[in-house]
This record gives sequence, C-alpha cells and structure tokens, in this order.
Amino acid sequence: MSSNSYFDSHAHLTSDAVFENLGDTINRASDANVKSILNICTDSITLERGLTVSKQYPWIYQAAAITPHDVEKIGERDFPFIAECARTGRLQAVGETGLDYFYEHSPKQIQKEFLIKYLHLALECKLPVVIHCREAFADFFEILDAEYVVNGKHAPGVLHCFTGTIQEAEEVLKRGWMLSLSGIVTFKKSTVLQEVAKQVPLSQLLIETDTPYLAPQSHRGKTNEPAFIVDTATFIAKLKGISVDELASATNKNARQLLNL
Ligand SMILES: [Zn+2]
Repeated sequence: MSSNSYFDSHAHLTSDAVFENLGDTINRASDANVKSILNICTDSITLERGLTVSKQYPWIYQAAAITPHDVEKIGERDFPFIAECARTGRLQAVGETGLDYFYEHSPKQIQKEFLIKYLHLALECKLPVVIHCREAFADFFEILDAEYVVNGKHAPGVLHCFTGTIQEAEEVLKRGWMLSLSGIVTFKKSTVLQEVAKQVPLSQLLIETDTPYLAPQSHRGKTNEPAFIVDTATFIAKLKGISVDELASATNKNARQLLNL
C-alpha cells in the first residue's frame, strides 16, 4: 500500500445510491488511505447533505452545480442556492458543469447558457471549476476562451473523467488546466486514454472514482466507491513508469493546489 494518501477528486457521495450507507463507504475509503475527497453535488438536496457531511468529515470537500444533463429541468430552480453557497465560502469548487452532446438530455443552447453562468460564478468567487465535457470540445473551448480568462490567462479548472483524444487533452493542458482520469483508463479498450495517461504531465494530473459510476476493471460491475481509487492510481503509475507513492503524492498536491486547500 502507498504511504502517501490519495485524493479522490470527484465522487458523488451524497447521491441517493451512496448516501444511504455513507458511513461504511467513508470508513472503507479511510482504510484504503483515501484521506481527501471532493464531493460533487448535483442539486439542492445533495448539496444540503454535502454541507452536513463536511461538518462531520472536514476532509470531504464540496463542489456543486446542476449537471449539463439536468439544466433544462432544474437549472433555474437550484442555481440561487448553489450560488449562495459559493458566495459564502461553503464550496471549494463550482461544478460539475459543462456540455454533453453525446446524451444531449438538455438542449445544447441551455447547456451553454448554464456553463457560462457557472464560469462567471466561479470567477466572481475565485473558485475553480469542475467540467464535464462529452463530444462537445469545440463549443467548450470557444466558451472557455471567451468567458473564463483573466489578464490573458485562463482561470483554474479541471476536465473531469477525461475520455477525449490526445489533441483534446493537449488543448486542456495548454490552458493550464488539470486533467482528471477515472477508472475508465483501466478498461482494456481504453487504449487512447492510456496513451493520454502516459503523456499528461504529472503536474497536471488528478485521479477520481466518479463514485458511484465507472468502477475500475478490477471491480467492474460493482458500485464504485472512493476506496477503489487505489486500483486506478496503481494502473496509471505503471503506465507512467513511476511508483504509486509518487503518483498519489503528485495528484494529492495538484488537487490541494487547485482547490486552494
Ligand atoms: Zn460526476
């Protein structure tokens, strides 16, 4: 086991599927040396739960936004509470927001409008953003370059659960952003993503579980949980030819830097 602790940069701990048995899940994370987690809240209910969780476990941090899937349905309803929490220092990041043209559960135009709203909120509150982007990179970079630049530099953020091409990864990295890899990188078919993992500089890499989704190969079919980050970290470390300690340490440091911890 790594002597360095792990930072799971993206988990939905307060989603219904996980929240029911959260105590056990958190204990297993602790046992696996996962000592920091960014909880991603996707509506007012999961955010209210998240704020309570942070009181009990100060090493579980909160991010919130309505996902691109749900902005049409609940985007307007929940924005005021999320914005209030961001403005009063209760969030460490704004997100996950972004664009998803693969599922397109909400119309593209509404997804874009909310992405811009959240980018502006992050700038106002000096918080980083957590971005979900699927089959929408051209529009995403266009909006990012127009709306999220301060004094000629992009404000900070992370592209979470990255599954794009090498070129798209380079576009993320050249904007000074972090790129976060999930258990998908461990799947046999993920050859492009494994190449991305090799090439992304250690200084711009985060790791995540995206709990409860996307369990790594070794736990495939199970509900994902933060303890499983160890498998993804071990896999990426092997790809990069470094020790898992070094990978854990770097990704931990990067997450703390991004979230101003
Ligand atoms: Zn997520």
